[in-house]
Amino acid sequence: MPQRTQRNRVPRTTMWDRGIHVKSLIGQPELMKELNRARALDILLEERVISRPQLAKRTGLSRATIAILIDELLRAGLVRERGLGDSRGGRPPVMIEFNPHAALALGARLRDHRWGIVLTDLDAEVVRHLETPLSDLSPATAVAALQAGVAQITQGIDRSRLLPAIGLGTPGLVDMAAGVVKTAVDVGWVDVPIRAMAEEALGMGVYVANRSKVGALAELWCGREQNVQNLLYISIGTGIAAGVVIQGQLYMGVNSSAGELGHVTILPDGPLCACGNRGCLQALASGPAIANRARAQLRGGPESLLLELAEGHPERIMAETVFAAAEQGDEAARHVVDDTAIYLGIAIANLVNLFNPALIVLGGPVGQNGQVLLEPLRAEVQRRAMAYPLSAARIVNSTLGPDAGAIGAAVLVLQHASELLFARN
Ligand SMILES: [Zn+2]
Repeated sequence: MPQRTQRNRVPRTTMWDRGIHVKSLIGQPELMKELNRARALDILLEERVISRPQLAKRTGLSRATIAILIDELLRAGLVRERGLGDSRGGRPPVMIEFNPHAALALGARLRDHRWGIVLTDLDAEVVRHLETPLSDLSPATAVAALQAGVAQITQGIDRSRLLPAIGLGTPGLVDMAAGVVKTAVDVGWVDVPIRAMAEEALGMGVYVANRSKVGALAELWCGREQNVQNLLYISIGTGIAAGVVIQGQLYMGVNSSAGELGHVTILPDGPLCACGNRGCLQALASGPAIANRARAQLRGGPESLLLELAEGHPERIMAETVFAAAEQGDEAARHVVDDTAIYLGIAIANLVNLFNPALIVLGGPVGQNGQVLLEPLRAEVQRRAMAYPLSAARIVNSTLGPDAGAIGAAVLVLQHASELLFARN
C-alpha cells in the first residue's frame, strides 16, 4: 500500500467541536490531558513524521508536556522513533513517526438486506471487509447479523488492537446524539434505538449516523483529493442525501438531519415524493426516478437501445441501463440523462452558492457510476451557480466503491481514536 506523506485532515478533536468550554477544563486535568493528546495525534496524522520540538511548537504545549505525551504514545505503539532530523545547531532532534497500524476500527453500513462491514487502520484504509446478509429487515435480525459479522471479521485479530467501538451507517433519519433511527422508510424502522441494541449485543461503544451522509467522511479521509476541507458528498441511490463537510467536520445540524438534499424542491408542480412534497430532487433524479423517466420515454417513442439492454423488459431498466445506453449514443437515454443533469445541476448550483465547497463528489450506487452525467451536470451548474464560488469548486465521481458508507462509519470511530485508546489504560 502506498505510504502517504500528507493526510487530508484538519484537527478533528478540538475543544470546540466537543462543546467543551475552556472554563470547564479548570480542575479537570484528565480532560485537559485527553484534549492535548488528541490534538497531538491529529498533527501526527497530518504530518506523519515530526520532532518533539516541532510538535511543541505546533500544539503550543510545553516541551515537558510533549515529552510525557510522546512517551505515552510510544508505549501505546501509536508512534515510533525514526532517525534524527535536521539541526539548526545543537543536537539534532529524534523524529517521531505515526504508526497507522497500531489500532483498528470497525465500521458497518446497512444496505440492500446486508451489512457491509470493514476493519480499517488508523488512516481509514480497509484491512478487511465482508458482507453479512440479513434474513429479514427487523432491527433484531439486523443486530444479530451485525454481531455475527463482527465476530467473523475480527477473527484472529488481537483484541487489544481493536478500538472498542463500531460506527454504524443506517438508512433513514438518525438522531446521532441518542443513537436512534427516527424513521427509515427503506427498512420500515421507526424510533429504533439501534445504538443501545448494538452496544448490548457487541459489548462495545456504538456511533450511529445516516449511511449516505457518512460517505462524506470516507471522502474526506480516503478520497482521491488531498487537502480538501470543505466538500459535499452527494449519495444517489434509491434516495438522495448529502454529507456536508465544513472545515473538516461533518455538519449534521441541530437534530442531525442536515443534508436531506433529496427533499429540496426542484419543480414546484413536479411528481409527488414519498415525503409528501412535490417535485423533490429525489422524485426526479434518484435511481428509481431515472428509470421511471426512461420508461416514460419508451412509451410511444422511437426504437431505443434501452429496451434491448433491458432484454425487452422495460421493468428491468435501471439507472445503470440508462447510463449505458446514453454512453452508446441512444437518444432516449441521452434525453433522460440530460434532464437528470438539469435537476441535479439546479440543486448543486444552489449548494455551491450556499457552501462554497472545493469539491462535490457524486457517490452512492448511481452517483459513482454516473460518469456520463458529469459533463452535462457541470454545464448546468456553470449556467446557474455564481462564477466566483464556482471557480473554486470541482465536481467528480467517487472512487471509493461500495465500501464508502462502511469506511465513513469507521471514521466515526477514528474521530474518537485517542479517547478510545487511552480510556481503557
Ligand atoms: Zn421529498
